[in-house]
Amino acid sequence: MPRPLPVSFVKGVVRPDDLPRAPVPEIAASGRSNVGKSSMLNVVFGRKGLAKVSQTPGKTREINYFDVGGRYHLVDLPGYGYARVPDAVKRKWGELVRTYLETRRQLAGVLQLVDARHGPSAQDREMLEWLRDQELPVVIVATKMDKLKKSAAAQSVRSLEREVAGWPVIPFSAVTRDGRRAVLSWIDAVLEQWEG
Ligand code: GDP
Repeated sequence: MPRPLPVSFVKGVVRPDDLPRAPVPEIAASGRSNVGKSSMLNVVFGRKGLAKVSQTPGKTREINYFDVGGRYHLVDLPGYGYARVPDAVKRKWGELVRTYLETRRQLAGVLQLVDARHGPSAQDREMLEWLRDQELPVVIVATKMDKLKKSAAAQSVRSLEREVAGWPVIPFSAVTRDGRRAVLSWIDAVLEQWEG
């Protein structure tokens, strides 16, 4: 089991020019707003280092950078699909995230969150296609698993696995903390590959 490393906030980025220049590997977390991204990050990385950033749904307009034990950057991408945001603002987030995913050399892997109850939304599917184009290591974190009964949970994971063929799916719950170790292990493996 990888040991939890201390996490601290580095900065919020609103323009591609402000992305950190250091050649530190990055693990990005992506998902629609309300998917459970903040809850997942809190469970996996601890509330202490992440508490500085406002976690109101849809309010995170920045790419938030966190240092994880001096080993890598955790990159919290703005949640998409939040209805009450003007189109111009959505476009701006979209551009920032797109530029980030398409050009970021430091990007070692992506945690893509999908709500286990509903499966991928239309926007999730767009994101999945886009990630596929980048040829990056991606893991699907199926959130809120505790809300499903056992048989529905297994079915949800199977259908996600079919849909994202080739990428691993980690069943996750912020309530039971199931999946925490698997997420940390996946990150560890990806970093080893990146560094190796
Ligand atoms: P974000 O917008 O993606 O950062 O989502 P949040 O982490 O703020 O979660 C959105 C809502 O879903 C909140 O009401 C959370 O309490 C709830 N939630 C998040 N993760 C879980 C989970 O694993 N299980 C359950 N039952 N609720 C969750």
